[in-house]
Amino acid sequence: MSLDDVLSRIDADLPAATDRLIELLKIPSISTDPAFKEHCDAAADWLVADLQGLGIDAQKRPTPGHPMVVGHIDGPGPHLLFYGHYDVQPVDPLELWDRDPFDPEIQDTPNGKVIRARGASDDKGQLMTFVEACRAWKEVHGTLPCKLTFFFEGEEESGSPSLVPFMEENRDELKSDIALICDTGLFESKVPAITTMLRGLLGEDFTITGPDRDLHSGMYGGIGMNPIRVLTKILAGLHDDTGAITLPGFYDGVTELSDEMRAQWQGLNFDHQTFLGDVGLTAPAGEQDRTPLEQIWSRPTCDVNGIWGGYTGDGFKTVLPSQASAKVSFRLVGQQDPDAIRDAFRHYLESNLPDGFSVEYRTEKGSAASQMSVEDPAFEKARQALSDEWGIPAAYVGCGGSIPIAGFFKDIVDTDAMLIGFGKDDDQIHSPNEKYDMESFHKGIRSWARVLAALS
Ligand SMILES: [Zn+2]
Repeated sequence: MSLDDVLSRIDADLPAATDRLIELLKIPSISTDPAFKEHCDAAADWLVADLQGLGIDAQKRPTPGHPMVVGHIDGPGPHLLFYGHYDVQPVDPLELWDRDPFDPEIQDTPNGKVIRARGASDDKGQLMTFVEACRAWKEVHGTLPCKLTFFFEGEEESGSPSLVPFMEENRDELKSDIALICDTGLFESKVPAITTMLRGLLGEDFTITGPDRDLHSGMYGGIGMNPIRVLTKILAGLHDDTGAITLPGFYDGVTELSDEMRAQWQGLNFDHQTFLGDVGLTAPAGEQDRTPLEQIWSRPTCDVNGIWGGYTGDGFKTVLPSQASAKVSFRLVGQQDPDAIRDAFRHYLESNLPDGFSVEYRTEKGSAASQMSVEDPAFEKARQALSDEWGIPAAYVGCGGSIPIAGFFKDIVDTDAMLIGFGKDDDQIHSPNEKYDMESFHKGIRSWARVLAALS
């Protein structure tokens, strides 16, 4: 089947594709606010109708929250699944928008044409890149190049409460050879990228208690052990002078980069001076024997996110507080085990508490990192397809944050995820005046057509 005809069709159909995206963007599907429940439903209905128009057997599927949209179409070759989300973030503060967030407009900017609306980039514009690629394929060839499942969520921006139960209940239906996810971006807004590493997350929120009441430092200062002194010493001991984390066993399960991946990352010419300079910093703080990109993508971290205790109001109060508290989080990589790290942290903390001190934890569940198996030839084929479209070698990149859906596909449905997206750093997702570059939309559609061809 000819890919060139599909690409030409995409170019010719771009105005109509843009009109369809504008229709979807007009629906204010804010998932977190119950006042917009009907609109979330309407966005799901719109997508069901659009998929059905492509001959896809699509349905709105109820959940205790907003509905899922699931569609299937048979075809030759492998079975690919595509995931995106149709819900959007709230628009507040509305007064910082230049126009109605749900009245989309194509605007000329110094960096080219953009489509401006809430959800333009996250994730309606990205979701529609895939749907439009399928539409062009169907119109040119009368059929799709492979068996496809479409899976759209309506609660991604509000914590995905129904996602795991839905995936567990519909495991067999959602199982496929690869799950394609379009909710990420280009590397530094330029280089097409497949995200293959996502860091996991573990948080510890705790309070240590020493004396059973606040004490006066005129009376107890010197003889009384101050919980803030204990807490800060414990927190300061989590890193050594080279930036490494000191917890015994912390680096168990951390995988080293392959030589190939290391070379690719060096080729990205990441400018850490600018990256840090943009936020008023100069020197990297991670492990000194690691490159800046490794520090962000492939190395684990420990950070104190909050610390409080004693008197912090106006004026002065010479208190030895009874308690001191902190929130500490770890970004995890490779096969690091969140439970083992929680145990190691608590052991370290408790073994450094003075006699008579106690600790209380407010536990949150941790999540392990996700690492895709780039040895699967599909990754190299997709990377080549992206390189062909953008005229620059596409890269496998990491993501310092967490994208839980990728892990859910692996753990619940036993399907590897492939994350490809066309967002840019200045898309202002979750912020006022969100936009999606028309270049991202157009080349995104063409990219998916190429990826579909390459994987079929
Ligand atoms: Zn998103």
